[in-house]
Amino acid sequence: MQKAIFLDRDGIINTEIGNYVTCEQDFQINPSLIPFLKAMKALDFNFVVISNQGGVAKKLYDHAFLDKIHQKLINLLSKEGISLLEIYYCPHHPTVGKCICRKPDSLLLEKAVARYKLNAATSWFIGDAQRDIEAAAKAGVKGILAESNSNLTLLIDKIGK
Ligand SMILES: [Mg+2]
Ligand SMILES: [Zn+2]
Repeated sequence: MQKAIFLDRDGIINTEIGNYVTCEQDFQINPSLIPFLKAMKALDFNFVVISNQGGVAKKLYDHAFLDKIHQKLINLLSKEGISLLEIYYCPHHPTVGKCICRKPDSLLLEKAVARYKLNAATSWFIGDAQRDIEAAAKAGVKGILAESNSNLTLLIDKIGK
């Protein structure tokens, strides 16, 4: 069975700016992301992004905007020989309506596990919010709570051993 690193987006993949990312210039990739993913790829991990994007429900940006910046990320990673299995995001927000896919719920993680036949027990979730870790726990995935915008390569030893 395949194993995966699940990654939160804002604060892990790109800079947490303290607000919604609503324009391309706000989407700045964490400089440690690529070295981290390369090290994890060498250990045979797959990668899945799981993100809350309530700004869609709030009409701060739309699916097309997310597609555009996510494609930018995919292109950047692909130049480095890294691919993502999928970028899953919840477009809902509790102020607009209820859903069951927003973290700390684990539906998106479970979707990924089922679709790509991943082994939850040997997979990890890296997030910068408690709700990331809660979602991981519900899906049986080990969680690592990282500081926002921190150096991800510091996690290599913990995951690699
Ligand atoms: Mg985050
Ligand atoms: Zn949702």
